[in-house]
Amino acid sequence: MDNEESGLNEKPLEFFTSMSGTGGYCDGQAVIPDGDHYRAYCLCGHWEVEAPTQKEGLRLCRVHTGSVPA
Ligand SMILES: [Zn+2]
Repeated sequence: MDNEESGLNEKPLEFFTSMSGTGGYCDGQAVIPDGDHYRAYCLCGHWEVEAPTQKEGLRLCRVHTGSVPA
């Protein structure tokens, strides 16, 4: 047994792939710490936002890709 699975959600740098099947440029997003907040951006290169928390950054990523309604 290892702890890899439980550690997945604790990494400060998190990439994930959109499952929405858009097939466009939004192949992945990242949320990175930036001072006292986080910065989220998309591989499409046309989207970057600041977020107060990593969780909010991830939510904004999903909104950006259309995975969840804004
Ligand atoms: Zn994008």
